[in-house]
Amino acid sequence: MTGTIHLGDIEIAVTRKAVKHVHLSVHPPSGNVTLVAPTGTRLEVARAYAISKLGWIRNQQAKLRAQARETPRQFVERESHYLWGRRYLLSVVEVDGKPSVKHDHRRITLTVRPGSTLAKREEVVQEWHRSLLHAVVPALIRKWEAKLGVKVSGYFLQRMKTRWGGCNHRAGNIRLNTELVKKPKDLLEYVVVHEMLHLVEPKHSERFVALLERHYPTWREARAELNELPLAAEVWPS
Ligand SMILES: [Zn+2]
Repeated sequence: MTGTIHLGDIEIAVTRKAVKHVHLSVHPPSGNVTLVAPTGTRLEVARAYAISKLGWIRNQQAKLRAQARETPRQFVERESHYLWGRRYLLSVVEVDGKPSVKHDHRRITLTVRPGSTLAKREEVVQEWHRSLLHAVVPALIRKWEAKLGVKVSGYFLQRMKTRWGGCNHRAGNIRLNTELVKKPKDLLEYVVVHEMLHLVEPKHSERFVALLERHYPTWREARAELNELPLAAEVWPS
């Protein structure tokens, strides 16, 4: 069963399904709004719910629009770049030698060969991101293997557009989005724990939520923070 709710200039597509709770989402890139409600929910009830969330909807839409305006990084002098949740200024040095990246408390210095392309600069920074993650992820996995009593056969770092992580239950490995290097470290840890718990319970079931509650009680805050950051225009798995 489907329907549409109009709230001023906002149009909300309503679907009714066998779900427990109402899910309201604002989707990129244009800020389309959808609402999934439990079977049998009357449209007036869904409408009242949407009205109560109007502020949130407008907020999400504003963020998406701001994001759309945000230009992709150019890897040029004095550009802002994030690392572990902190903003740094980029400094680009052109030297005829092996490209490298280093950082101090306020600056990230990218050293590249003269005339290097944007693609090359991006690749060098990506490699650096991967090395930063490889430096911390194994210890996090070991820590949580002991706590959760689960074994991870391996992990992969991947650039993903819509997800922070993933897991292959059968193979026993997890995937992590390389963009996590830009977020505070505790958010990386949350994603590691979340994906590792999927090795115990593949679905976002009640059991999964109970496990999260027990092992990572602040998961809701972590999830909300991840959902606020660019990737998460789409609400991350609950
Ligand atoms: Zn999940």
